[in-house]
Amino acid sequence: GGKSYSMMLRLRIPGGRITSDQFLSMLDACEELGNSTMKITTRQTIQLHGILKDNLQPTIKRINDLALSTLAACGDVNRNIMCCPAKRTGNVHSQIEALTDELTTAMAPQTSAYHELWLTDPETGEKTLEGGGTAPVVHGRVSGDEVEPLYGSTYLPRKFKMGIGFPDDNCVDLYTQDIGLLAIVRDDNVIGYNVLVGGGMGTTPSAAKTFPALAKRMAFATPEQVVGVCQCVLQVQRDNGNRADRKVARLKYLIADWGVEKFRSEVEKYYGEKLADCTPDDVHEVDDHMGWQPQGDGKWSYGLNIENGRLYDNDDQQLKAGLRAVCREFKTEIRMTGHQSVIFTDIEEADKAKLISLIKQSHMPTTEETSTVRRWSMSCVALPTCGLAITESERRLPSIIDGLEAPLAKLGLAKERFTIRMTGCPNGCARPYNADIALVGKAKDKYTVFTGGGWLGNRLAVVYKDLVPDDIVIDELIAIFAAFKVNREGTESLGDFCSRVGPEDLAVLAAAAPKP
Ligand code: SF4
Repeated sequence: GGKSYSMMLRLRIPGGRITSDQFLSMLDACEELGNSTMKITTRQTIQLHGILKDNLQPTIKRINDLALSTLAACGDVNRNIMCCPAKRTGNVHSQIEALTDELTTAMAPQTSAYHELWLTDPETGEKTLEGGGTAPVVHGRVSGDEVEPLYGSTYLPRKFKMGIGFPDDNCVDLYTQDIGLLAIVRDDNVIGYNVLVGGGMGTTPSAAKTFPALAKRMAFATPEQVVGVCQCVLQVQRDNGNRADRKVARLKYLIADWGVEKFRSEVEKYYGEKLADCTPDDVHEVDDHMGWQPQGDGKWSYGLNIENGRLYDNDDQQLKAGLRAVCREFKTEIRMTGHQSVIFTDIEEADKAKLISLIKQSHMPTTEETSTVRRWSMSCVALPTCGLAITESERRLPSIIDGLEAPLAKLGLAKERFTIRMTGCPNGCARPYNADIALVGKAKDKYTVFTGGGWLGNRLAVVYKDLVPDDIVIDELIAIFAAFKVNREGTESLGDFCSRVGPEDLAVLAAAAPKP
């Protein structure tokens, strides 16, 4: 017969919060309908791969029955909204979680086409439409389209991404988002948000006009203003983003073209009010929420590093079985992080040892057994699943990390925190362009090596060397670490060091430094 093609399905899980039961059901779904693995993404959600076309509709129906959704997980709409996944008592985390949920509705398309398309029973033709929902109030200049007041009949020129985080915890990489909301906290209360606009990683290798960009600090919005302001940012992009050329259609190109001041004044026109300037607060720390963290209510969260977010069972490791065992035993909420990992919440002090033993029974490394370099690395899907991939990424990064661990230990850098991010093409799905070090697939078995971003996420990396063959990439990275060891100033980070010396001097220092 003809070759049947398979598809990827991505869920919408605001802030990465999911129940144990939902998580278990998704593990069932990947085994029954997909390729039997599940990927936790860099946007705190789940992807199922290898879904045969004939299984697509039952899969989507199943996901909707679980009260999860694929709506707005793909396409030229607002994608899964990221939010700091730490579970904490006190006001501020519940305030940003509530805003994530509110924005998920307020920034979503209102169309019923999605339901008509996907929730029709193929045998009976019966349609399942979501009832009872009220369309959110849309601020600013509505499109004039009754069905789609926010998106209009033409939707957006391109996809749109958002995240919410804190100055002392930029775990959702705010500067890479179309809208990054930096929550400003005073006396355990979010008094508003510094609204950052126009970040984005994707580039097209053949198009020199494309570039990665960090978001720009636009204005301050109070909790009462922030939903309306976000809708107006989206509408200004809807009405002014480039629709002639998809390569330069993201919000970042509009803002590069206009400058952030003009963009802000246009948003203010749509909103109907002037906005205050950003407060001086900015990102200054990142917490990946791995290992044991107290929630403030006497219970604990445990962050378990999942290498590249891929869940599978084989003879060596049984990650799916391990997560199943934990989900069944504790039945608590799971939170997925922006680093492709999971947090088990609400663990009692007396149950901590039990959780660790379940993880060890499945031969998964605990977070404490995972090296710092592996813990802070991430890769996109790439080969064999992603149609855009030029090189390996997810299947290759683990062995690259294997080759770095011993040399880093010999250099005394085993505990040094820095990010290595790898992608199979310049599209940048694993947010490479603000990492300390990035490997971006450029040609068959050849990578562009970027240096000089940083784990805070607020500085872009630059090209260090281009077209580096796969078989020397480990040596190239070890040479950078050796140069860092000899030449770092004080406690500066790897990214700060690489940025300070610049790529040309870094290459000279790397060639000269004694290798471990
Ligand atoms: Fe695919 Fe490129 Fe995205 Fe990797 S970065 S998942 S290769 S599109």
